[in-house]
Amino acid sequence: MKKIALTLLASLLAAAAAFADEPAEAPAADAQAPVRMITEATFPPYEFRQGTDVVGIDVEICKAIAAELGRGLVVEDVEFDSVLPSLIAGKAELAAAGITVTEDRKMKVDFSVPYVRTGIVLVYAKADPCEDGASAAGKRIGVQNGTTSADYVREQLGQEPEMFDSPASAFAALKQGKVDVVIADIDPAKNLIKGEPDYDISDFLTVEEYAVAIKKGQPELLATVNKVIEGLQDSGRLDEIVDEWTAKADALQSAGEAAE
Ligand code: GLN
Repeated sequence: MKKIALTLLASLLAAAAAFADEPAEAPAADAQAPVRMITEATFPPYEFRQGTDVVGIDVEICKAIAAELGRGLVVEDVEFDSVLPSLIAGKAELAAAGITVTEDRKMKVDFSVPYVRTGIVLVYAKADPCEDGASAAGKRIGVQNGTTSADYVREQLGQEPEMFDSPASAFAALKQGKVDVVIADIDPAKNLIKGEPDYDISDFLTVEEYAVAIKKGQPELLATVNKVIEGLQDSGRLDEIVDEWTAKADALQSAGEAAE
């Protein structure tokens, strides 16, 4: 009897402690429900489809954040220009999609500490090289909708880009001669030209940093996200994740080439 009473007391205390830990700013969230990550899965090695699953570096980072919160992870895949609006609308707790931190986006969402330093590059046919921004000016430039590549074309080159729903569809248009050059983030660009000896990429046009975005006004969640990212960086685990998923995305791209 005494043992039962003590067990009961222990579970009451545990329940009270759990209740006290509940982040005050998110009272509606079910602590046991999986964390929802929103992304756009045409961006290897950060997020891409392996069969029906969305996998990649960003998914691994968000899984680690969910694990820190004691929860599972579900991934939702939308168009890139819907990622932040969906986050703001409360459809997910985490947005990770190779999202570059920009001043404009910082006004709408909160960003974690950055987890990669990167940038955009030109993707061009070796037969028609285009190795710097100035050489791209006046050409038909393909970019993914809503990206910093689109911003670059408008703001630095003063022209309208040709819009595509993924870096891969912009690259397909380049191969068909529908655009003269593509601008995309370096890692998906490198992935695109795997097994494409007639194409190459330029040096960086910009320096950018990716971070995880969350809805504004959640300091506890932001602190947890930052702690997890810093932990992955300090332990060397992030480098392993990057290497592992870059190799997997490249293998998938090469297999796709072979199947063509
Ligand atoms: N890093 C770029 C941006 O944030 C592209 C991201 C993407 O296409 N997934 O605009």
